[in-house]
Amino acid sequence: MSEVGTLEAGNRHDLRVGRSPDAPDEANFTDNEKGAFGFVHSYESSSRYDGPGLRAVLFVSGCLLRCTYCHNPDTWHLKDGTRVSSQQVLNRLSTFAPALKSLDGGLTISGGEVMVQLAFTGRILKGAKAMGLHTAIETSGFLGDRADDEYLSNIDLVLLDIKSSDPDTYRTVTGRELAPTLRFAERLSAMGKPAWVRFTLVPGHTDDPANVDGIAKFVAPMKNVEWVEVQPFHQLGAFKWKAMNLEYKHLNTPPPTPELIKRVIGQFEDAGCRAR
Ligand code: SF4
Repeated sequence: MSEVGTLEAGNRHDLRVGRSPDAPDEANFTDNEKGAFGFVHSYESSSRYDGPGLRAVLFVSGCLLRCTYCHNPDTWHLKDGTRVSSQQVLNRLSTFAPALKSLDGGLTISGGEVMVQLAFTGRILKGAKAMGLHTAIETSGFLGDRADDEYLSNIDLVLLDIKSSDPDTYRTVTGRELAPTLRFAERLSAMGKPAWVRFTLVPGHTDDPANVDGIAKFVAPMKNVEWVEVQPFHQLGAFKWKAMNLEYKHLNTPPPTPELIKRVIGQFEDAGCRAR
């Protein structure tokens, strides 16, 4: 097993690869260490973007989706992450906890996909709650069936990425099926778990009005959804695809225009969602 490394501060746009070459494959990952150790990309200590207030954001490794516009392909594989202990993460978090609390924030775990390393992220979320912190995860929901109610009980807010309402479009842009995400959204709604739905707006790929309307109509009746956030596609991750020798399909995809963003936010609002 890979050596235990040092938890590194950084930025989601840093390229990090090859940190743990003998790590298991994320698709068949079974956590024999019960979450005592896990694989992480990096963390940021002061984000204003990933939940309410000031957030520490931990980016974990491992994802089973392959979004064609992913900004962080260096989080797809456990082997690209640094192996750290969950205690190491909690020790670091405890140094930020007073500041996070005083600025109405907390911890967000993002990725990658948080539920690939369920025991590891579960331990960290539980530890963060014990510090009195607000907790959030950002997830595609694809592995939502893996999360039991105890796991969800340590999460105050789910940032749920719904990448498309059309199964064919979803499969085209992620390589996976849409149904598990919708199932997870319905479960969160039934249990009243606060959620922000995030939708990445990719011109020519996810911007079809019917696709947007499909998400809007699905989400609008869900009382637990506090916000729908429209996230404009950008090219900040393009360099990673090149550096990793991956075929990038969006070299010529422009960011959405202000008019397009306005139209899409308007569609969500017209359906009855709070959108921004
Ligand atoms: S779910 Fe997120 S991390 Fe995974 S491929 Fe899609 S954008 Fe990238």
